Amino acid sequence: MLGLMQDWPLLIHRVIDYAATQHPHRAVISRSVEGPMRRTTYHDVRLRALKLAQRLARDGVKLGDRIGTLAWNTDRHLESWYGITGIGAIYHTLNPRLFEEQLIYIANHGGDKMIFLDLTFVALAEKLAPHLSAVERYVIFTDAAHMPKTTLKNAVAYEDYISEVDGDFQWREFDENTAAGMCYTSGTTGHPKGVVYSHRSNVLHAMSVMMPDSLCLSSRDTVMPVVPLFHANSWSLAFSAPMAGATLVMPGAKLDGESVFNIIETENVSVTAAVPTVWLGLLQYLESTGQRLTKLKRVAIGGSACPRAVTEAFEQKYGVEVIHAWGMTEMSPIGSFCTLKPEVADLKGTALYDLKQKQGFAQFTVDMKITDDDGKILPWDGKTFGRLKVRGPAVSKAYYGLDEAILDNEGYFDTGDVATIDEHGYMNITDRAKDVIKSGGEWISSIDLENVAVGHPDVAEAAVIGIAHEKWGERPLLIIVRKKDRQPTKEDILKFIEGKIAKWWMPDDIVFVDDIPHTATGKISKKNLRDKFKDFRFS
Ligand code: AMP
Repeated sequence: MLGLMQDWPLLIHRVIDYAATQHPHRAVISRSVEGPMRRTTYHDVRLRALKLAQRLARDGVKLGDRIGTLAWNTDRHLESWYGITGIGAIYHTLNPRLFEEQLIYIANHGGDKMIFLDLTFVALAEKLAPHLSAVERYVIFTDAAHMPKTTLKNAVAYEDYISEVDGDFQWREFDENTAAGMCYTSGTTGHPKGVVYSHRSNVLHAMSVMMPDSLCLSSRDTVMPVVPLFHANSWSLAFSAPMAGATLVMPGAKLDGESVFNIIETENVSVTAAVPTVWLGLLQYLESTGQRLTKLKRVAIGGSACPRAVTEAFEQKYGVEVIHAWGMTEMSPIGSFCTLKPEVADLKGTALYDLKQKQGFAQFTVDMKITDDDGKILPWDGKTFGRLKVRGPAVSKAYYGLDEAILDNEGYFDTGDVATIDEHGYMNITDRAKDVIKSGGEWISSIDLENVAVGHPDVAEAAVIGIAHEKWGERPLLIIVRKKDRQPTKEDILKFIEGKIAKWWMPDDIVFVDDIPHTATGKISKKNLRDKFKDFRFS
């Protein structure tokens, strides 16, 4: 017997319809690429998204067509996602921090028919364009007054583009499993791989991100996704914030510590989210200026392990709750949040921050397990580590255009991370499987070592890689960027680390560098470091 409830497919346009109905005047505030702040509302975002949908339909854009976006977090970028998906086309985020060859590969492989882009990226797009033969038109997120001279094919200013229609348009209806978005993830080897989100997966995922033990979003929050829309589906905030009816602040192109601080304070941001590098920048700005955070309540930190020093500084110095989050592009992207179950809610001091180092427990819609290399399930005891595998309605089952099978016989996807899970369900990433340092048959977590090192008051950033060792196979090398005008020695740092980790985890050497390379999504690039130090030998 089937249930007798209505057929109400989980389509993305329902999110913006809901926000515009229940929260029509809630503000959507953006730092525009042209400079000034722009203020709009969910009512207007919906209206303009409808206009875009209407205009795209008039241009012959059909169900399943891919439209690239090469842009910062702004209201225009946001409404383009709703407009594109509202007719069953697919937003395809292009990360401008990737190399040109990668962008060309991604846009071609994804089959982009049009590209929407910011003014900042016109020069970049002009270099890519000769290699993107399928792209029929470029739409620049600006108005006629700021429209640059460009060689881009059929280039048009976004404001002109949508002004040719009146918005009297119905969203298209289709199956909720229809593709909605695409984001390529770069592995360390081979070409980037296309992850394809559906309407249903994005809606379910956004609901799971709003929940109280997740980001706990409500209409009383002011949410600022610092994490770019082009990084892993904006951690769902482009959907979950409107779904919650939260005020939305889009920070545009300026993501340095001072700019992030200013926008948090002037726009009363209560919840924000980004990778640790952004927060290291903000904390350094606060430290050097003596400024205080007066508005912020919660900050979600993920994408790579959040250093303990960052959690402690936010919570103890500035009174901002840190929610450590973990996930990956293939998971829409969030798989766990480190919020407090009653079993651990009374923890204080060191024990609390030990817990907050963990990546947390899976939210509803994410099944998790850890296994050994043969697929045997390992216990949740907080000590045994194994390969972390996940399944759920917002987890990938395949990559776009690739035949390779990526699920095990129970339908789980191998994340490539190595983790423990404790008796309360809190998962702790030991490392990426390929970054873990294999010393004498035992494993050393590069993440744990980095976390301890970055707690030294003179250290700005730390990275650990394994270096070949005759006797042990591999041993850890600690790479340090010192804070400005500070000169800690190797001995200072070794003394600081000693006692905080097992003796045999102590790095065999330390090198000081001016900067550590980052990937296009702001993580430490272990691959580049391994290349750079490939000839390094411990003396
Ligand atoms: P991406 O798909 O580029 O977002 O990368 C996903 C990978 O980032 C995961 O598989 C993890 O290795 C890493 N990652 C994400 N969040 C965290 C976290 N909180 N702690 C440690 N690693 C993380």
